[in-house]
Amino acid sequence: MKALVLFILLAASPVFTAVSAQDNDTIGSMKIEEHKGFTGFWTEVSDKANLDYIIRTYASCEKKVILVNGNDYKSLERVFIPLSESYLAYIKTKGIMQTDGRCDEFDWPIISFDRVTSSFGKRWNSFHEGIDIPAGRGTPIAAAADGRVIVARFLENYGYTVWLEHRGNMVTRYCHASEILVKEGDIVTRGQVIASVGSTGNSTGNHLHFEIRYGDFPMNPLDFLPYHPGVNKNQYLRKID
Ligand SMILES: [Zn+2]
Repeated sequence: MKALVLFILLAASPVFTAVSAQDNDTIGSMKIEEHKGFTGFWTEVSDKANLDYIIRTYASCEKKVILVNGNDYKSLERVFIPLSESYLAYIKTKGIMQTDGRCDEFDWPIISFDRVTSSFGKRWNSFHEGIDIPAGRGTPIAAAADGRVIVARFLENYGYTVWLEHRGNMVTRYCHASEILVKEGDIVTRGQVIASVGSTGNSTGNHLHFEIRYGDFPMNPLDFLPYHPGVNKNQYLRKID
């Protein structure tokens, strides 16, 4: 199953095919396995601080760790660390990724929405490197996490765009805005309004194209965002229940 999903990811994206895929099933000394529908690895955990460190290092998620290991996981010595498909695709092509961010740190950039119209992954003959959230023109776009503005300008195709740099080499991108409310170099806090929804650049209607990247490598935003009832379960690459 994991191999199939990875094959789809590797086949779908020019990014993922740039480096030949090796069929290794380990990260360092850790063996990648399936457990309760998740892909990840088993590891020994000494205490809560150690577990937090492991979760950050492998871009995992405390909520998923609890989901897999139960609420009393803190007292366990051996825990299963679930990994996201995009994280696995990253390490397959580029090697170990050391993040210091964690999925619990990201919030949805639009407070109120009812659906995601285009998910991350293969779309016709191209690869959609983010998700599309439809919203009316002028709807506030909020910073998904604390960060620094590294791009705040008009870009071809993406229209008025803001990129934020976060700790752990994580970057979020907000595209097709009608208006930008920050400037490059600004420090922003999670939830701060940074732009307004629009349809600038190559866009067919008012929506936010939202990306989460590790450096410049596109990750599935749904791996990092809280569960939202407006998102179809089949839009998640990962099992969520
Ligand atoms: Zn899009």
